[in-house]
Amino acid sequence: MVSATLMDGAALAARLRQELKEEIAELDHVGLATVLVGDDPASEIYIRQKHKASQEVGIDAVDKRLPATTPEEELLELVDELNEDDEVDGILVQTPLPNQIDEARVMRSIDPKKDVDGLHPFSAGQLYLGRQTLVPATPLGIMQLLLEYDVPTAGARAVVVGRSALVGKPVSMLLLQANATVTICHSQTADLAGHTLAADILVAAVGRPGLITPEMVKHGAAVVDVGITRTDEGLRGDVRPDVADVTAYLTPVPGGVGPMTIAALLGNAVRAARYRNGLLAFPSI
Ligand code: NAP
Repeated sequence: MVSATLMDGAALAARLRQELKEEIAELDHVGLATVLVGDDPASEIYIRQKHKASQEVGIDAVDKRLPATTPEEELLELVDELNEDDEVDGILVQTPLPNQIDEARVMRSIDPKKDVDGLHPFSAGQLYLGRQTLVPATPLGIMQLLLEYDVPTAGARAVVVGRSALVGKPVSMLLLQANATVTICHSQTADLAGHTLAADILVAAVGRPGLITPEMVKHGAAVVDVGITRTDEGLRGDVRPDVADVTAYLTPVPGGVGPMTIAALLGNAVRAARYRNGLLAFPSI
């Protein structure tokens, strides 16, 4: 007996992409450069999805590939070229990067105006301070979904499981900006269920299939499942599907947060183009 409304990220993302297509046509040109180092199969899939979506909305995307053995300096040189390239509004360096490359150094090398993944310390700092910035796409997509389904955030208890720079921390900051009372849980959290049971909004961003069970969620909560794990039975989220028997809202996997992430990334590329065209003021550094 499923009682939850499934938050349809695929449908909302399709609508957002249509809106972006019109904006992009007005802007004339929006350029996105992706950089993939090595041949990690999951990363290749993500890059392919990003290019397909870019093409659909009229973003001119360039696909830069480097071998897994690429030295850090070579990647930094490529980022530098892309920083200087007038055709490129947004730069995305796909992670994880091979061990010989310092990920933080690469993120720091991206021009903050072109930082469509929102991982430059300037972008992260702006978000922390509650100021306008380019925000990582998955957290942005999650907030758009909550808004679409009228899930109230002001005064709500929000619990985020996971504290990565890509998802857990930025989504916590956005929920805080939206006036939720936020708790962040992680692998060292004692009594995880004690926290999750109190959540009106629960975001699971861990990467452990079925970590969140029906006994761990509050009746009537909104649950956002960010986790994606490839198993023999297909893609699995962090939330057991029968959590839908208990909650008011749940995002499906696939078809929930995944498509929203891509749509939000395209939105970030458009924002970056507006910064570079002077149509939107870029916050001073
Ligand atoms: P990550 O960097 O590996 O972070 C995972 C987080 O989960 C860490 O903070 C870790 O805690 C915490 N954790 C691990 N085991 C735990 C446990 N038993 N209880 C509570 N917390 C635990 O991963 P990520 O990049 O944030 O991604 C998380 C998941 O989302 C992955 O499955 C990823 O594939 C997926 N994802 C999906 C999308 C999408 O578009 N749908 C986008 C990005 C990521 P510590 O910090 O203590 O280690």
